[in-house]
Amino acid sequence: MKYSTLLFLTAAALTLAACSSKQDTGGSSQEQAASSSPTSSQSSENNSEDNKAQVSENPEVENVDKTVSYNGSYYSVAGKYDEIVIANKHYPLSPSYNPGENPTAKSELLKLIADMQAQGYAISDQYSGFRSYDSQTGLYQNYVNQDGKEAADRYSARPGYSEHQTGLAFDLIDSSGNLVQEAGASQWLLDNAYKYGFIVRYQAGKEASTGYMPESWHLRYIGKEAKEISDSGLSLEEYYGFTGGDYTE
Ligand SMILES: [Zn+2]
Repeated sequence: MKYSTLLFLTAAALTLAACSSKQDTGGSSQEQAASSSPTSSQSSENNSEDNKAQVSENPEVENVDKTVSYNGSYYSVAGKYDEIVIANKHYPLSPSYNPGENPTAKSELLKLIADMQAQGYAISDQYSGFRSYDSQTGLYQNYVNQDGKEAADRYSARPGYSEHQTGLAFDLIDSSGNLVQEAGASQWLLDNAYKYGFIVRYQAGKEASTGYMPESWHLRYIGKEAKEISDSGLSLEEYYGFTGGDYTE
């Protein structure tokens, strides 16, 4: 009795294990083929390996908006005055695109910081600007190890998808060493950043468009057109009419 029960249970367990692993494999490959279908936590774990393989090569975006061009390094749109580099969860940058900190953007940022300090805001001279593809890879991987992929995706860009890789994005730090979130300073940035050619890139109410939670501290250098964009109340995606939102997988 004991033996036969054990044998039965063992056989049942083996059968279940074989079935479930077959189903998993079939399910995940189907989802990868049809990337539009929603992914379960299991399949998104499976996908992470694929993403690693993908991001080490040049990005290929399937649905490129008519207004968007690609030069092998980055996607861009034609602004009113300048070419506007775009980097979001739909439009990645090439891993080899490594422009460093944009000098014009940096000098405007230093002016903005000095003016905020002069007006009494607790802003540090320190800021977080350019990040190479490789440094973003390390940063993102640390977050994934620490909090898991799903959580990491909520606050950190995957390598190739960070606007910091453009050399045109800067995170402001306060005098305690934290990202700037204080209400007065945040409002000042919304009202005044355009005067230095910047926009507050990730704003409240625009999460579906930008793909990010609000970040009062993250400034994106645009140049002259920052005023029009800022006045419009639109996200960068809405203003130029290009696709944003979350990762497709
Ligand atoms: Zn940032």
